Amino acid sequence: MDFTPTRQAGLARLAAFLPVAGRRYAETRNADDGPAEEGRGNVSQLSPWLHAGLIGDREVLEAVVAAHGPRAAEKFVAEVFWRIYFKGYLEQRPAIWCDYRSDLESALALLAGNGGLRTAYAEATEGRTGIEAFDVWAHELQDTGYLHNHARMWFASIWIFTLKLDWRLGADFFLRHLIDADAASNTLSWRWVAGLHTKGKHYLARAENIARYTAGRSGGALAAEGLAEEAEPLSETQDYPRRPLDLPPPVTAADLTAPFALLLHDEAAHHASLALPASPALVIGASRAAARSPGTTSEPARAFAHAAVAGGMAEAAAAYGCPAVAWHEGEPLAPLLEAAGIARVALPFLPTGWTRDALSPDLAALDRQDRLVTILSDLDRATWPLAKAGFFGVAKAIDGLLAEAGITGAG
Ligand SMILES: Cc1cc2nc3c(=O)[nH]c(=O)nc-3n(C[C@H](O)[C@H](O)[C@H](O)COP(=O)(O)OP(=O)(O)OC[C@H]3O[C@@H](n4cnc5c(N)ncnc54)[C@H](O)[C@@H]3O)c2cc1C
Repeated sequence: MDFTPTRQAGLARLAAFLPVAGRRYAETRNADDGPAEEGRGNVSQLSPWLHAGLIGDREVLEAVVAAHGPRAAEKFVAEVFWRIYFKGYLEQRPAIWCDYRSDLESALALLAGNGGLRTAYAEATEGRTGIEAFDVWAHELQDTGYLHNHARMWFASIWIFTLKLDWRLGADFFLRHLIDADAASNTLSWRWVAGLHTKGKHYLARAENIARYTAGRSGGALAAEGLAEEAEPLSETQDYPRRPLDLPPPVTAADLTAPFALLLHDEAAHHASLALPASPALVIGASRAAARSPGTTSEPARAFAHAAVAGGMAEAAAAYGCPAVAWHEGEPLAPLLEAAGIARVALPFLPTGWTRDALSPDLAALDRQDRLVTILSDLDRATWPLAKAGFFGVAKAIDGLLAEAGITGAG
């Protein structure tokens, strides 16, 4: 699969996948048929473009519902809402992300001081555990920057319950290599597999299941011998009470009358889905892809994120007829704004995660001066308040959310 970090490539992938996105997706999406040059046939592989904001959740939903109608597209639509749900959930419990980051530091320190653990970790990440399926996925992740959803679930389950490695080390391994690495989907999915997201309900990988859904791979079904057949879900002492959402109001032209800059970042690299009510006088691009981990981000993952922002800046500058400038790490933002006479900055919402961690300290001063105008999509604004507990709260509202967003499939 060619993950070219441009909006055009994301739209081309969406167009190629569209015929499959209805009932065929619902019937075949569980199969992990392995990587193919032209992309897997049964799943969209749109996640890298969606995470980077090169294409938007809304336009993907619109295209799929228009092609198949809301009923036949139901399964695919629900998956896109999982992405929005996880974002909204983490937004209401940001301490999960903070604790993940500090516990990861502790897990890495433990690893550094324990030879036995280091060996087990090296065997897992280098694909040398002797569990064929796990080893194949460890290589596939590092070679391609992508894993099928089921493979991610099985891999995480084997990591936690069979290899008994710390889940934070596994989540970090994913973040460093996934081209679609996403703080909300990744952290909360690892917690879901572990039995921490839905307390006491964990996911145990089974060899028969793996063989069944990998039977279509070119080398045949993957074996997974010696998996833990029983295991207790993980537990934790801390609780994560829900914090009320404090969402920005919809942005109007009146908010952007003075010369303003549009700030594109790793989760909003393109202007097309932002529905800006006025044209910026400057486009600023900030990529902080390496902030996802204290370790080294893989070159494909880093390159995708950087090129997505660089390309997005160039396209926005051309569309608005204004200059574009890169805001590099460690560089103060104020001189860039002063040089261009910029009063305000339009900021696509920075969700909880490393992009916010990396950018918000520098943006805090602007915020205090009331010079930040935050843009949040209508779909996120409507969905996030429903992401209070389990996915069910969102799932049962999907029809209404689509109708409210005007995504009806008619015309
Ligand atoms: C342990 C683990 C870690 C994960 N880490 C990430 C991550 O870092 N980034 C990421 O984008 N997804 C992550 N996922 C979710 C899911 O595996 C991927 O979104 C999906 O496999 C991407 O492939 P696709 O685009 O072909 O999905 P499709 O099946 O074609 O689905 C369409 C879109 O819906 C969204 N989606 C689908 N399934 C899920 C899901 N279970 N949770 C959230 N969103 C979903 C994605 O944006 C995806 O592009 C993780 C899942 C697990 C179990």
